Amino acid sequence: MTDYHNASTEQWLQWDKDHIWHPYSSMLKPAKMVPVVSAKGVRLTLADGKELIDGMSSWWSAIHGYNHPSLNAAANAQLSDMSHVMFGGITHPAAAALGKRLVDLTPAELTKVFISDSGSVAVEVAIKMALQYWYSIGNQNKTRLLALRNGYHGDTFGAMATCDPVTGMHHLFTKVLPAHLFADAPRTAFGESASYDDMAQITDLLEQHHGELAAVIVEPIVQGAGGMRFYSGDYLRKLRALCDKFDVLLIHDEIATGFGRTGKLFACEHANISPDIMCVGKALTGGYLSLAATLCSDRIAEGICNGEAGVFMHGPTFMGNPLACSIANASIDLLLADDWQSNIQRIDRILKKELAAASPLKSVAEVRCLGAIGVIELKDNVDMASIQARFIAKGIWMRPFGKLVYTMPPYIISDDDLVYLCQQIVAAVAEEE
Ligand code: PMP
Repeated sequence: MTDYHNASTEQWLQWDKDHIWHPYSSMLKPAKMVPVVSAKGVRLTLADGKELIDGMSSWWSAIHGYNHPSLNAAANAQLSDMSHVMFGGITHPAAAALGKRLVDLTPAELTKVFISDSGSVAVEVAIKMALQYWYSIGNQNKTRLLALRNGYHGDTFGAMATCDPVTGMHHLFTKVLPAHLFADAPRTAFGESASYDDMAQITDLLEQHHGELAAVIVEPIVQGAGGMRFYSGDYLRKLRALCDKFDVLLIHDEIATGFGRTGKLFACEHANISPDIMCVGKALTGGYLSLAATLCSDRIAEGICNGEAGVFMHGPTFMGNPLACSIANASIDLLLADDWQSNIQRIDRILKKELAAASPLKSVAEVRCLGAIGVIELKDNVDMASIQARFIAKGIWMRPFGKLVYTMPPYIISDDDLVYLCQQIVAAVAEEE
């Protein structure tokens, strides 16, 4: 028996160090891990009792903070009914309600929902939907995707193939990935009209390759793991028109941007457009459990189901997990019960005001904020171990990468905590100079 509840912190940290892979980690030179034993509201409690204000929302997901009474109640209620049941041939109210909810909240064109278990799988499902659609309607040449440089869509094979093969994290697998096409990332800033240069290359690619292109895939408005860049809604609008013109499907990956993070419920609303396929995940369950969904239009669903197979060819074991679906329903209720838009504007205002203090620092290239996302881009890569130790000493949890020190706090963060978080971020960046 592994009696880990009675193990000392040193003991279980050693088990972790000896055996456990962490994201993008080395087993030979394991980084020092921060032992978290509980979390409540916006605070993580460490094994020694120290508390950290969370600036990361566990990678965009814990929008309501941790240990929220409404989400706990939903989880407990569902646990007493059933935590899981297979989804083949069986359904249950939590999944049905979630499907209806997602269809009601997303653009009207999106009517059908595939509920899966992680963001990367939601992207795999989106890609398979696009490929199976064209196959099913008799166009077997449309098998490639067009993605953006600096894009990031996940760690599984289909998703990896749509990540930037040059700057992305997956270049070592390039040889075994399908060769897709890449357009330069849009440079037009958020709020501006898409520049001629931004549209020219992607227009050319679509013009030349539309006969072999199944879909274009983009992270709308915010390119996340590929650089935390914000770009123009007008670019997305023009891209939608190009996809229509050249009969190529449009996939929006809203896994990071969904559920209010950019100031709109979904980032596509900044452009007033609908994709043909949309992926959501991360904040879907308020960060409680891994759950994701891929929505598609009637056109895609009918194309697939009228085709040779007659069914969509995907069906994971934990599809539509009732526990995760019930928490997702409660998380969406919680978000919409509040004046969430004003709340994101409040966070936006504080981030802009407080992080601006980093702009004059000589190590800082740019400070940019959008909705509940604040980014300090440095001129050089951070020394992760050193800056992380500073953050912890200052009582905040941050996880920079490359040149990016960025925060996307839980939406429930108070003004005081947010001001403190931002001031400590700026102080740590200044001390690293
Ligand atoms: N797409 C985007 C835009 C993401 O940010 C992520 C996660 N960082 C993914 C897909 C993959 O999601 P997951 O990590 O849940 O597989």
